[in-house]
Amino acid sequence: MSRALKRWLMLAIAAILLIVALIEGSAYVAAHPQDVPWTTLDLDQPIGRFTGPKLAALGEDPRRCRALLAEGGVQDRAAATIEASAPCGYADGMRLVRETQYRPAGLVTSCPVAAALAIWERDILQPAALRHFGRRITAIDHAGSYSCRRIGSGPEGRFSEHATADAVDILGFRLADGRRVSVLRDWTGDPSRAAFLREVRDGGCRLFSTALSPGYNAAHADHLHFDQAARGAVGGRLCR
Ligand SMILES: [Zn+2]
Repeated sequence: MSRALKRWLMLAIAAILLIVALIEGSAYVAAHPQDVPWTTLDLDQPIGRFTGPKLAALGEDPRRCRALLAEGGVQDRAAATIEASAPCGYADGMRLVRETQYRPAGLVTSCPVAAALAIWERDILQPAALRHFGRRITAIDHAGSYSCRRIGSGPEGRFSEHATADAVDILGFRLADGRRVSVLRDWTGDPSRAAFLREVRDGGCRLFSTALSPGYNAAHADHLHFDQAARGAVGGRLCR
């Protein structure tokens, strides 16, 4: 075989391999839009590598976020804008209207938190409840979202994500048969309840920029804190 022919063959093989790689790559993206950063988020997609960062990025586009909830069949209602001196207040609030009730009723969170909670309830919380307890969760006890305060509630330091309703604190869960699971009591209590709580915290880590639990510090002994802090396209995560 002449040297020119060999070179030509090598080039042809390289070109074929490149084309195969491109076809396989686009097939992969079509089948796994949740695992690449440039595809559009859809609430029906399974949770993937970039679901969390895409949810957090919805904070910059409240209209898109509300449309996404409506397209995903979520019944939440747009809430009134809260005007407050910066950095407090929000314009993208959603009043949660869910089959799984939030107690007390009337919880309003930022739209990215509402969207993440919708996926979390469906793909993390309910499957974990069925696996551990054989029952669905009918209600989630919470300690609110919006609160114009700094981290740790002191007079100094960075403002909390709660100051823009971009966070939610969850105290516990009520099962369809009346049983209760409490973060305070069960985090280090009954093994199956403790395992359930860790599982729903870990699932929160995949959907929220920040997920903090009793293991983080004493201030979180009685609740799971989930927030959608803006940390850029790749989305630095904090999960403790
Ligand atoms: Zn919190």
